[in-house]
Amino acid sequence: MDETNWRDLLKPPADGSSPCWGPDSGLRARALFPVRVNAYFAALIQSADDPLGRQVIPSAAELDDPATADDPLTEERQSPVPRVIHRYPGRVVLLVSDQCAVHCRFCMRKRRVIQTHRDGKPQLDRALAYIRQRTDIQEVILSGGDPLMRADADLAALLSELRAMPHLRRLRIHTRMPGVLPQRVTPALVALLAGYHPLYVNIHFNHPAELTPAVATACNRLADAGIPLGSQTVLLKGVNDDPVVLTDLMERLLDLRVRPYCLHMLDRVPGTRHFQVPVERALSLLAALRGPLSGMGVPHMMVDLPGGGGKMALTPDAVIAKGPEQWWIRNWQGGIYTYP
Ligand SMILES: *Cc1c(COP(=O)(O)O)cnc(C)c1O
Ligand code: SF4
Repeated sequence: MDETNWRDLLKPPADGSSPCWGPDSGLRARALFPVRVNAYFAALIQSADDPLGRQVIPSAAELDDPATADDPLTEERQSPVPRVIHRYPGRVVLLVSDQCAVHCRFCMRKRRVIQTHRDGKPQLDRALAYIRQRTDIQEVILSGGDPLMRADADLAALLSELRAMPHLRRLRIHTRMPGVLPQRVTPALVALLAGYHPLYVNIHFNHPAELTPAVATACNRLADAGIPLGSQTVLLKGVNDDPVVLTDLMERLLDLRVRPYCLHMLDRVPGTRHFQVPVERALSLLAALRGPLSGMGVPHMMVDLPGGGGKMALTPDAVIAKGPEQWWIRNWQGGIYTYP
């Protein structure tokens, strides 16, 4: 499939033919964060409240939320120039696109996804100039929106500009595209990406029903090109807050050569309260994965601290007590062991 073809698939499903246009679509919610569901993803949705429908179909519950900060992680404050978020030493996020193949109702960057920047090119040039001049930066994470919404030629131009900066050791792409519009992962795109190794791709997946044969093909192409693949999952009430669902998702990702990386606590932007899973419950879900699931499939559970504190990994308390000679540690079955 060539580029024009995947762009055709961005079209929404025809009215009336899809639960995406059902009566429960939360008309006012739609006004606050417009709906975007492409024809491929829409075809996977059986009803507005199935695990895929809930992710992209607006719900009236979005209006019942006291959260007001559209940027709780203060990304804009940690942005030295537009489109760069510089929060940690040595690595930056570069926002290369404000568009996505679907609009996720829980998106933490809604504030960006709903605006169309007409001046993308001058902003990107300035962002690249910042990265070029900051020789302490070692890694650039292309994010957005979805970086793979950019045309191949734009991506090639961007990646080669970055690769020409000798201080950058590796590049990383964070995308939802292989899971929500796998047709985007054309042989041409994969060949292009493989020209910029070491290049890592982390893919946003939330539910096993997203892992269709087309998605498997996309992941296989990327993995065959030697691109290390990771996954990011947002823990979402009513979508994947279930140990069986999470275990199945992680196992199936491993089968696709995607190494589970992060399971993110929800970022509380407006309209997301109905997706929130309490920390206590999240930790017990994580504990339920440890043991039954291949260790390679257990993701880090990350909370991105409001106020710009950054991401921290949450872990079930394994250390029960600390003595001068030994520590008491709880194992995955709840048994207590000592370690000298
Ligand atoms: C998540 C994030 C990163 C990447 O963090 P890793 O722990 O390296 O995956 C970098 N910068 C910002 C601003 C982030 O939010
Ligand atoms: S793909 Fe990512 S950036 Fe785009 S709407 Fe979904 S969560 Fe937000």
